[in-house]
Amino acid sequence: MTYHRETRAARLTAPGPGRPLAVPLYQTANFVFDGPDEVAEAMSGPGSFSYTGHSNPTSRALEDAMADLEGGTKALVTASGTGAVNSVLQAVLRQGDHVIAQRELYGGTFSILKNMTDRWGLEVTYITGADPAEVTEALRPTTKLLYLETIANPTGHVPDIPALAAQAKRNGVITAVDNTFATPLLCRPIEHGADVVLHSATKYLGGHHDVVGGIAVFADESLYQETWRHSVRLGVTADPFAAWLILRGLKTLPLRVARQCESALLLAERMSEHPAVSTVYHPGLPTHPSHSRAKRLLGGFGGTFAAETTDARAFMRALKLILNAPSLGGTESIVMHPATTSHRDMDAEALRQAGVSPNMVRIALGVEHPADLWADVEQALDKLSNVSPALTSRA
Ligand SMILES: *Cc1c(COP(=O)(O)O)cnc(C)c1O
Repeated sequence: MTYHRETRAARLTAPGPGRPLAVPLYQTANFVFDGPDEVAEAMSGPGSFSYTGHSNPTSRALEDAMADLEGGTKALVTASGTGAVNSVLQAVLRQGDHVIAQRELYGGTFSILKNMTDRWGLEVTYITGADPAEVTEALRPTTKLLYLETIANPTGHVPDIPALAAQAKRNGVITAVDNTFATPLLCRPIEHGADVVLHSATKYLGGHHDVVGGIAVFADESLYQETWRHSVRLGVTADPFAAWLILRGLKTLPLRVARQCESALLLAERMSEHPAVSTVYHPGLPTHPSHSRAKRLLGGFGGTFAAETTDARAFMRALKLILNAPSLGGTESIVMHPATTSHRDMDAEALRQAGVSPNMVRIALGVEHPADLWADVEQALDKLSNVSPALTSRA
């Protein structure tokens, strides 16, 4: 019988001699062989272990676990989510190629695409991702890649992955989906037609704000092989200790994500009723433009959401329990100002397209008690309404 994902995440298979219950850490840069032929043979691909810059048994255990959880055939662990994104883009694209990308995109990915456009002649058309007709319209003979995010950062926009990926497939275009915000617990893009799924393992998978890493999961073998070659050239293969920490995080991923989703929805609902909040961007709210797609495609609405308050900076300074810090997805709740941090490389027009406004904050829930988190948000919002003349007149 096939166990549930929650069970499979908790019960990872450990490689190596004996029967270690936890996956052992192979903190070694290289492996020893009987002679030169054996070394040469082992170095020819990712299948065997020769040099940790190519592959490593601890990293492989994480790759196997993630391929299983995402329903892919192979996975590749990288030194960061950015490393995974770059490896896949380099594996798929050449000079002059065309990419169709969701406009509400992680700022770092937008900046990679912009750099490839400015310096290497890549062409990019941005779409909302709500309608497959956008793909049909954007298609060119040079289109090679459709790039989406399951739950866009920070607006919570959810693209119609099955319809868009089907349209891409009909035209020989590869679909890549960044599944960082959803994790394989809430969505498995390969089941919806994606060819490759990307993760910043720094976020939910690692889950403790103590490791940087990335993962790409592939529906089939050939793109995996090509991406592996590029990850080696870029030098972004993962350190085994980072892979080990992410494996450790994976075991509690289902518990953490369930709590984070629950707290995010609670805060989103309560914030949307507070006079100092103008808009809440959470796909679980019926008012969110992606709500019906989110219900259809996701097993939960995610643990991170955005909101516009009357004064983003004052709100962030007034928080006591929720920390001012970058990143998301860990055990500690974090607040961030996207316009000046994750999306700082975007000009005003790109920010508008991505739905990022100056008074928007992003809250990434941790695993603290939801009542403590709401109490913190409420006291900060209450201070805000006191200082806003506009609100005093409204109230
Ligand atoms: C953080 C993030 C990345 C980049 O990952 P790093 O591990 O920080 O390099 C990519 N995509 C999304 C959606 C992210 O949140």
